[in-house]
Amino acid sequence: MAAKKLLILPGDGIGVEVMAQVRRIIDWMARKRKIEFEITEGLIGGSSYDVHGTPLSDETLAAAMAADAVLLGAVGGPKWDDLPFDVKPERGLLKIRKEMGLFANLRPATVLEALADASTLKNEVVAGLDIMILRELTGGLYFGQPRGIDTLPDGTRKGYNTLVYTTPEIQRIGRVAFDLARKRNKKLCSVDKANVLECTVLWREEMIKLQKEEFPDVELSHMYVDNAAMQLVRNPKQFDVMVTENMFGDILSDCAAMLTGSLGMLPSASLGEADAQGRRKALYEPVHGSAPDIAGKDMANPLATIMSFAMCLRYSFDMAAEADLIENAVKNVLKGGLRTADIMQPGKAKVSTTVMGEAVVRELDKLNA
Ligand code: NAD
Repeated sequence: MAAKKLLILPGDGIGVEVMAQVRRIIDWMARKRKIEFEITEGLIGGSSYDVHGTPLSDETLAAAMAADAVLLGAVGGPKWDDLPFDVKPERGLLKIRKEMGLFANLRPATVLEALADASTLKNEVVAGLDIMILRELTGGLYFGQPRGIDTLPDGTRKGYNTLVYTTPEIQRIGRVAFDLARKRNKKLCSVDKANVLECTVLWREEMIKLQKEEFPDVELSHMYVDNAAMQLVRNPKQFDVMVTENMFGDILSDCAAMLTGSLGMLPSASLGEADAQGRRKALYEPVHGSAPDIAGKDMANPLATIMSFAMCLRYSFDMAAEADLIENAVKNVLKGGLRTADIMQPGKAKVSTTVMGEAVVRELDKLNA
């Protein structure tokens, strides 16, 4: 089998520290599971600006386009806060997502038993939660034209945005959603506002058509977005995969993230169009940012980035067994009582970024024995 081409972009701040721990896991996979990776490392964000005068160089972008998958840490920090808008570190991130055509954003919200008390919700509501929110990322209200703020003849002003989706846009996100549901529990909830917005009437019609024509084995349900927000905090375990419009997904995925109670534990994946071989461009990154307040202190929680790598194995390389290994190793380390500062609980052992990374590798050894 051809070597898997991975581009690693640690970025800024804690991005560099958490990615160093992912490198341990990658090395472990190469040594112990004989997976061949061809790894390139590049710069993005402030670290790229410092060297190239731009947060995303043509060289890094070309490497991303040629890679089977991109692993990213985080970008940004106070050092670059006063830069002009178009060279800010975050612009590098938006540009790479756009150029790679990443229209599907996968945000799992999983509550590991050992951390159920970290949620603001009652333990029994969230313990064992395992849902996936799929957000459309390149269309909808955030990109629709026309948009703007105009001054009217009478001097008053008008601000407006447009919610628009074409059938191909709905179908491609729909296919990713049904595929995901197929790999999980074959249950998909499509979230819309079809009682008010015509665009989402079309969204609903297309989802129904897709289910009938291509995915009859997946159970499809529909929910209005206001109800979905309520149900997510009332009884989140009723869901498995949810798929929704860009802005609805922005809001719902942050709501679901908080069910888990901890930013340092949340991975994500963004996928693009499938090519002739069915291979999708893909970028995997933790949900958190570069955390300047703790950067350089060996304090950051590396688990979100480690679990982003597990998603990479699962979705880009179809290596479910290896992805399960990593997720189980993480579960066992937490069960064993190790915690980074952000998820510290009474009676547990506080450890550094490095020690947490080492502990996951040790656990992988045990599980693989
Ligand atoms: P942040 O996610 O960096 O940090 C928010 C809080 O959570 C901080 O107190 C931080 O210490 C803590 N935190 C985050 N990740 C953690 C981890 N892995 N382990 C332990 N604690 C963790 O968000 P912010 O403070 O709003 O932004 C800081 C910088 O990051 C800004 O420059 C922002 O633009 C950038 N940012 C980047 C991304 C990205 O690269 N995807 C996302 C969000 C913010």
